[in-house]
Amino acid sequence: MRFSNLEQLIQLCVKESVTIGKLMITEQAVETGKSTELVLEQMAAYYDIMKEAVYKGIDSELKPRSGLTGGDAKRVRTYMHNGVVSLGTEACSAMAYALAVSEINASMGRIIATPTAGSCGIIPGVFVSSQERFGWSDEHMVHGLFSAGAIGYVIANNSFVSGAEGGCQAEIGSAIGMAAGALVELRGGTPEQAVHSVGLALKNSLGLICDPVGGLVEVPCIVRNGFGAVTAMAAADMALAGVKSVIPSDEVIDVMLEVGSAMPEKHRETAMGGLAQTPTGRKIMKELYEKEES
Ligand code: SF4
Repeated sequence: MRFSNLEQLIQLCVKESVTIGKLMITEQAVETGKSTELVLEQMAAYYDIMKEAVYKGIDSELKPRSGLTGGDAKRVRTYMHNGVVSLGTEACSAMAYALAVSEINASMGRIIATPTAGSCGIIPGVFVSSQERFGWSDEHMVHGLFSAGAIGYVIANNSFVSGAEGGCQAEIGSAIGMAAGALVELRGGTPEQAVHSVGLALKNSLGLICDPVGGLVEVPCIVRNGFGAVTAMAAADMALAGVKSVIPSDEVIDVMLEVGSAMPEKHRETAMGGLAQTPTGRKIMKELYEKEES
């Protein structure tokens, strides 16, 4: 890739008068030695899987083997259809869809890791709900996925995208940043605005620990996906309104690395701290082990 940070990404886009998404399509084609048509085709197939997970998850009450979670996406959608929601239906819909995909993941269904399985609901939640709302084509959405991919590439190469390495800020936080930046571009914002939205979004999840109850990607992961979709939309709106990340987004990514590196092991996907070690978290873990053994 010709860029390793977000500032370089903006400079390239400005120089070539292209969006982040368009630039990433070219970069990906060169990097993989595939034609742009093939690269686009592959991403379109990923988007189909995302949509499939959204619509399957929202309509079902899939229960993962643990019995811990399930049905929350449908609950939120029913609530939304039955009256006035505090968030507004657009954000509520993104939240419900993000929950739906995360529930599919918890039930071992098919998802696309964006950037990980734990954070797989945020991008589909934001994308599919926005596509329905604005009437965008699949082609437009696929370009958006390349914008998200470019942002994820920078984060992964300068910090982390896995909870085991950098805590939940690295998984949920990165997904929020990717979704926010992509949404800015999908809505016609500039690469600079997209990058500001990444910094705005990431700042809001710095320090978030990874503490999955029972070591399963369910509690608190599923609801964090729901919140993440809403936060991504808020960050995109702020950036489109002209709000800037005072601390440049590349520096925020560096902070994520600093904070994640300093995070104790018990808060990095080991289930040895945080919510996993609350009295209820421990009780659930004990019951799960007993169930497994019986
Ligand atoms: S708590 Fe851990 S496992 Fe769950 S989404 Fe966050 S990083 Fe992933």
